[in-house]
Amino acid sequence: MVRGLVQGVGFRPFIRRLAIKHNLTGEVVNRTGGVTVVIECDRERADMFARDIQDLAPPAAVVRSVQLRKTRTAGFTGFSIRPSLDADETITEVSPDIAVCRECLDDLVTDPGRRGYPFINCTNCGPRFTIIKSLPYDRINTTMAAFEMCHRCAAEYMDISDRRFHAQPVACNSCGPVYTLRAGDLVITSINDILEEIALRLASGGSVAIKSTGGYNIMCDALNEAAVAGLRQRKQRDSKPFAVMFRDINAVHEYCHVEVQEKAMLESWRRPVVILQQKMPLAPSVSSGLNTTGAMLPHMPVHYLLFRLITTPVLVLTSGNLSDEPIITLDSKAERDLMPVTGCIVSYNREINNRADDSVVRVINGNISLIRRSRGYAPEPVDLSCSVEGVFAAGAEQKNSFCIGRGSQAFMSQYIGDLVNLSTYDFYLDSLRLFSSLFRFTPSHVACDMHPDYLSGRFAEEMAEQNGVPLVRVQHHHAHAASVMAEHRLIGEVIGVIMDGTGYGTDGNIWGSEFMIATPADFERYTHFDYFMMPGGDIAADEPWRMALSCLFRYFGSDYDFSSLELFRQVEGRKLETVRQMLVNGINSPLTCGAGRIFDAVSALLLLCTESKFDAEAPMRLESAASSNIDEYYPYSLNGTVSLQAMFAEMLKELEHPDVPGIAARFHNTVAHIILDVCLRIRRETGLKRVVLSGGVFQNRYLLEKSLYLLSMNKFRVYTNHLVPANDGGVSLGQLLVAAERRGKCV
Ligand code: ZN
Ligand code: ZN
Ligand code: FE
Repeated sequence: MVRGLVQGVGFRPFIRRLAIKHNLTGEVVNRTGGVTVVIECDRERADMFARDIQDLAPPAAVVRSVQLRKTRTAGFTGFSIRPSLDADETITEVSPDIAVCRECLDDLVTDPGRRGYPFINCTNCGPRFTIIKSLPYDRINTTMAAFEMCHRCAAEYMDISDRRFHAQPVACNSCGPVYTLRAGDLVITSINDILEEIALRLASGGSVAIKSTGGYNIMCDALNEAAVAGLRQRKQRDSKPFAVMFRDINAVHEYCHVEVQEKAMLESWRRPVVILQQKMPLAPSVSSGLNTTGAMLPHMPVHYLLFRLITTPVLVLTSGNLSDEPIITLDSKAERDLMPVTGCIVSYNREINNRADDSVVRVINGNISLIRRSRGYAPEPVDLSCSVEGVFAAGAEQKNSFCIGRGSQAFMSQYIGDLVNLSTYDFYLDSLRLFSSLFRFTPSHVACDMHPDYLSGRFAEEMAEQNGVPLVRVQHHHAHAASVMAEHRLIGEVIGVIMDGTGYGTDGNIWGSEFMIATPADFERYTHFDYFMMPGGDIAADEPWRMALSCLFRYFGSDYDFSSLELFRQVEGRKLETVRQMLVNGINSPLTCGAGRIFDAVSALLLLCTESKFDAEAPMRLESAASSNIDEYYPYSLNGTVSLQAMFAEMLKELEHPDVPGIAARFHNTVAHIILDVCLRIRRETGLKRVVLSGGVFQNRYLLEKSLYLLSMNKFRVYTNHLVPANDGGVSLGQLLVAAERRGKCV
């Protein structure tokens, strides 16, 4: 029995080829819980065969276990693939979407007539999660059901020796989905003419909305500043960096620094956006002053076809949506919302059943750090060391994902987004319905954040009440810590260091620079940065200059002459005075110790970002500015809480003639040294040597690498997130584990 992700990824044909190579007779059968292989041979050859299954499995397959058992079945004459047996209650894993494979791309070139098909796919590649409606994964249960196979496709589908044997989305030019381009009165249905028209529009600085695997994308020439700036303006996306798609890996090398692991990620079948260091600039408006580029390689056949026609080696390829709303999947909505932005829409007549945005990753210290987990990742489970059966974890409010537990596996939803509007909330409910039916899930425990006003929290309350099951509220940063413990299957006490933006604390304040002693079930707060006021509440997170004023006010009082600083000369006088009054009188100023707010303050003091136009802009600019060759750090003190007074005092002196890269670097180093210092103290007091690092601030490569370096030099064992994001997108996994542990059945 082979368990894991072994269906819809070309696994059975692989087994058959392997059996033929090993000269074995027998059969392979799909079952609900995995794949059963029967072979006639002795134990030694069976062991070799099992080893090859593990070592040579197709790229998108995940072999979790190969169990060998003796059977009496015998008398096979060859090796056959038998029809699926859908029997027991165990669940099957559903494959994420897989980028078009090398062999299909070759077909595209060698047989342009029939194979020059812009949706070409095989058992090794093609859409999976985004088209599935229910299990088992058969064509009839996908959005391909509407397309009847022509006799040639049907013959390939039935032929076990064919690469397209049981490839559910298999189709060709005469039987499959087709593209249509619309622009004003213009309607084009021939793929070659469509590609020509797109190429023309891109070359003349236009933009095009195109339906991708998991939703609509908008593209334009990433080297044409007028095109990018124009798109930005029409999309009203302020200055959030756009992701780009390069023609091929050589083009990436030309514009970005690419390390070995980054290249592997770019070329992997998951095809995420990979955050890379820039080498040569694209159009300035692409990454708005940051020194990184979000790069990906083509993943659909149509991308490859298009790059043959256009001269630019790189396109902006950004999500097609209105701000704060999920990526658009419906053709009618694209027509309404995206036509005004691009004037041209390329769609195809197959439904996207499950929305999946492009995933975003970054390689830090040679390891994958996920920023957004969606296409190519969802719904791949995380294997845990204990049973989480029946637990539903509602997730956080921002960058939401939810998690359901089946057996000892956590199935995390694709990236949902910020639960701030109805369309995102609908997306949340739709995805939950899908996951519940795909994985036959009924909740027996519900977990959510402690925040009283989170939409996900209210939903969790209702769900618990309707199902008559217990609700567990999990502190936000404990959930962050638990997400790392879940990934690494850690048990017992660890040191948790959570550097984050916002999270509701047990004292009612906003936490986010947490040093804790944590187990999967519980935590004890050890220390944190000093509390600061957030003048104006949430608005202080959007206007970093407020946090700068708040930090200086906290440490140097209201008598300090703020007007000596350039930053405050830039703020309108009346506004500045209002905020100062808020601080003096403590009005409308909740307390926070979120590390993200300190990054905001420093970024503002250095004039890198005084008003934030997109999420985490100020910290990103600060990281981007930091010089890499500096080891110095600022003084600070630890007494009860972490005081940054000495750091700010020093910084203020330097601000007279600021060396921005130096100050930014010293600030990052200071935070890393505080982390080390506190961990050393905790180790002296408790003997704990394992440290888990999580929270959105650790998406900062400079900070994470520095912290990892200092901690490992001091003989700590350090664990970070690799399978789920360190930001709030990973919180649901932590909630799931905490709830399962508290329930007490976790073994
Ligand atoms: Zn293929
Ligand atoms: Zn066909
Ligand atoms: Fe968080």
